[in-house]
Amino acid sequence: MVKFYSYSKISTFEKCPYKFKLRYIDKIPPEIKGTIEVHLGIAVHQTLEWLYKEVMQKNIPELDNLIIYYKNFWQKKYNSNILIVKKNLTERDYFNKGVTFLINYYTQNSPFNEGTIECEKKVVFNLDEKGNYKLQGFIDRFAYNLEKEEYEIHDYKTANYLPSDEEMHKDKQLALYCIAIKEYLSESEKDKEISLNWHYLAHSKKISIKKTIEQLENLREEVIKIIEKIELTEYFPKKSSRLCDWCEYKALCKKSEISESIYPDKIIEKEPVEIKKEFPVMNYKERGKNTTLDIW
Ligand code: SF4
Repeated sequence: MVKFYSYSKISTFEKCPYKFKLRYIDKIPPEIKGTIEVHLGIAVHQTLEWLYKEVMQKNIPELDNLIIYYKNFWQKKYNSNILIVKKNLTERDYFNKGVTFLINYYTQNSPFNEGTIECEKKVVFNLDEKGNYKLQGFIDRFAYNLEKEEYEIHDYKTANYLPSDEEMHKDKQLALYCIAIKEYLSESEKDKEISLNWHYLAHSKKISIKKTIEQLENLREEVIKIIEKIELTEYFPKKSSRLCDWCEYKALCKKSEISESIYPDKIIEKEPVEIKKEFPVMNYKERGKNTTLDIW
């Protein structure tokens, strides 16, 4: 039987096998339906997707309209079950963070003539020769750079963490999508270069790298080995880390074993801050691209 894997499934196993079991084997519905960081990420991704879809229709939205789109999306999807882990921050702080990300991105990348072909491009490909394991995922934005005559895979990051060069080169996600795109290209295009581009929005920083064929093949083998390990695993240990505070199974996990001393309870659920209709959208423009991001 063909098994479908995704980058997040593989990465969940690597970060915490126990969480992998709860989510993908036991299929237990998470107690926490979402965190504010995830909500922010979805709202920003959705807004940038809308932006580029407009651009592909030869319509460049004004910055104000971009922020209005973001605000409307945020309000529509926000609910009181969204978890805010950091006690010193409110919903409004996270909302404003997204506004800053979008203003900076817009200012740096306008008029967006980067040859965008598709947003949220779905890719599915065989990892192994027999086709037993398929990998599927979504590319935030796929483009063809006419000047450089190369394809580009773009990914937006809304977390505050900025990886080191070494970590970037070890990252599997975009490299796996690169393997998929290479398989999609016609014979005449097979030799075209594909660049991997991360937009770290909290740092207004774009990081671009390219992978050699050899590096991609090594990655393919590495991922097949991880999947084979997953398939053979019978014991899924807990792997606690700072990520536990954001884990949607934290309560269940705690109940089953982790002691309070190792794993202090920091999760709090906050009442949502009412978002007023009159968010000062126009004023955000003035914050400009040098806005300092305080946390996260
Ligand atoms: S709380 Fe931590 S150890 Fe428990 S399942 Fe989640 S990530 Fe794993």
